[in-house]
Amino acid sequence: MSKGRLIVFSAPSGCGKGTMLAEILKHGNYHCSVSATTREPRHGEKNGVNYYFISDEEFEQKIKENAFLEYAGYCKHYYGTLLSEVDDYIEKGIDVILEIEVQGAMKVMEKRPEAVSIFVIPPSIGELKRRLKKRGTESKEVIEERISEAAGEIAQAGKYNYVIVNDALENAVNDFFAIMRAEKLKAEFSGDIINEVLKNA
Ligand code: 5GP
Repeated sequence: MSKGRLIVFSAPSGCGKGTMLAEILKHGNYHCSVSATTREPRHGEKNGVNYYFISDEEFEQKIKENAFLEYAGYCKHYYGTLLSEVDDYIEKGIDVILEIEVQGAMKVMEKRPEAVSIFVIPPSIGELKRRLKKRGTESKEVIEERISEAAGEIAQAGKYNYVIVNDALENAVNDFFAIMRAEKLKAEFSGDIINEVLKNA
């Protein structure tokens, strides 16, 4: 059985990444890694579903225990990918999606060069601002902070394997599946199929 693929999926907050992921999970068989974070849960978020919400002390303890594939500081909080959310699934042939920010994504690309990295960008910064305001989950100051963080992140999009512009949800989701399809057809993952075809030659 072939192993699952590791997919790094980044987008500045407000890019529609959550909606895109929900749609992707509806139509494909992926495990979306649940990260650990020290930020407070937003209204409606559940521990163990959206994140593992833990204290700074607990997070630092996990760093010492090497429990993370990567972790990063973002807007004054820690966020990290737990190894337990990744490797067991990959071994079982399940593709794992990491929804993480740029610093963490760079670390994963370095540690796991086989990972497929995808960056989702908004059609414009103006549109991003509009979406963040409409979401209404953050204060004005936090929105400003996230916009400036977003601009810095978008500037690094070129370091990813693929960039998707999320102007319309359906197109963006189709782009995601097109990438996954092409990745699965890569010759480096086709050894078994090639051998099978050649078996009775
Ligand atoms: P939010 O607070 O909006 O849920 O997430 C803020 C940022 O942290 C987002 O860009 C999100 O992708 C990123 N993030 C979530 N989990 C992780 C993680 O495990 N590691 C890293 N490096 N970033 C994460």
